[in-house]
Amino acid sequence: MNGSGEDRYSSNWEKLSKRLRLLYPCAVCGETDFFKKEAHHIDGNKKNGSIDNAIILCKACHKGVHDKSIEIPENFKGYKNCGFSVKVAHPASSREDWFNSKNPLKLIPKLPSDMAMKFRKDCIKGFIKPGACNLYIGLSHSDYLVGVLGFSNPDYGNYDVILKADTTPSEWEYSTDLLLYVLRTTDVKNILSDKFGRDVKTAYSKCFSQHEQINRYRKHGELIKKDKVNGGYDLGYLFQLGTVPSLKAAKSLWMQKHKIT
Ligand SMILES: [Zn+2]
Ligand SMILES: [Zn+2]
Repeated sequence: MNGSGEDRYSSNWEKLSKRLRLLYPCAVCGETDFFKKEAHHIDGNKKNGSIDNAIILCKACHKGVHDKSIEIPENFKGYKNCGFSVKVAHPASSREDWFNSKNPLKLIPKLPSDMAMKFRKDCIKGFIKPGACNLYIGLSHSDYLVGVLGFSNPDYGNYDVILKADTTPSEWEYSTDLLLYVLRTTDVKNILSDKFGRDVKTAYSKCFSQHEQINRYRKHGELIKKDKVNGGYDLGYLFQLGTVPSLKAAKSLWMQKHKIT
C-alpha cells in the first residue's frame, strides 16, 4: 500500500517487511503465519524505514497497537543484532582472506534458524538434518557469517545446555577450532545464561564417531562418556564455558596456536 506525497513509505520498507515477516513471529502473540503478519513503524513515521523502526505484528495485534489497547512488549530488542543483514560465507580463496583480516569477530546472539540451516547445508559435506535447536549463535567476520553454534535445553543428564551444532566451512583450515575457542568465551556463556534464564556454566555434546576421541573436541572439552557401539563409539564431551575472557582473546589464542600472524 504505497501512498503518495507525505504518506509514501520509504522505498526499502516493502522489502524489509517481507524479509522480517519471513524470519520473525508477531512480537506480541507469536503468530507465525506469514500472511497474517505486517510490519509496523514503531515511531509512527512511515518515512522512517530503518530496521530500528520495524516490529513484526499480526494483523490483530497491529490493530491493537494502533488503537492503544496493546503495547509493544518492553523486552522487544529489535532486529538489528539478529543476523538479519549478514551474508552467508562463501569459500575463501585462501586462509589469509579471512583470518588475517583486521576485522574483529562478532557474535550474533540470536541467529534465525533458517539462516543457520542454510549456512550448515552450504558449509558441511554430507550434511545430516539435525534436530531442532532452541538457540543458534552466529559468528561473523566482516559482513559474513563464518560459524554457527546451536544449542538446546538438555532433555537428559545433569548438563546445563546441549551443544548440537558447531559448524564452519569445511574447507577452511582450523576454522572449527576457532569456533570451539569462541564457544568457551564469557560472551557465549552470557548469551546462553540470558536465553535460558539461569547461570549456564557447561555445554555437553553427544556424538558418534568411528574413533575413540574426536580430534576437534579433544583440546577444548573433557571426554566424560565413551560407549562402544556398532561401528564405533558414542562419545560425550563437556565444555567449560567462560574460560576464555573475550572474543578477541579467543581469536588471539587460536592464532597463536596455529602460528598465524
Ligand atoms: Zn502500524
Ligand atoms: Zn499478534
